[in-house]
Amino acid sequence: MRQFGGNGCNRHPEADVCDDPAHCQAYLPLSAQKLKWGVLDFAANYYKIRRAVVATAGLVLSYDGLVIDPIFHSTCGGRTEYAHLVWTNEYPYLASVVCNFCQHSRRLTDERTFTVAGLAERLTQWNPAVAVTARS
Ligand SMILES: [Zn+2]
Ligand SMILES: [Zn+2]
Repeated sequence: MRQFGGNGCNRHPEADVCDDPAHCQAYLPLSAQKLKWGVLDFAANYYKIRRAVVATAGLVLSYDGLVIDPIFHSTCGGRTEYAHLVWTNEYPYLASVVCNFCQHSRRLTDERTFTVAGLAERLTQWNPAVAVTARS
């Protein structure tokens, strides 16, 4: 990857990518996939993954003649976000679009319960510039 201008994994200088799903790649060896998914889901998921690998072998995604940074996520919640609103970098190919791919995700919705004061505290921690007053 470095030969094509990529940065490599900054946690593992000797590697292009690592297998930490929170860092470089969401990769599990076959034995771990079987344990995680069980026999039936493993077979279905493995077939789906193999089909995707074969269908995209030798292909790269490019924008304006350059290979893109193929950032991915498991669940967007129904609409992706413009990259510049999430990170400081501008990725013109990462625009906000309606997404139906993650409608099946068990992470599509989430429910949390907070006290009014707890929510105000979290909002203030998230962005101290936001004036939050807790009233119940
Ligand atoms: Zn990494
Ligand atoms: Zn999505």
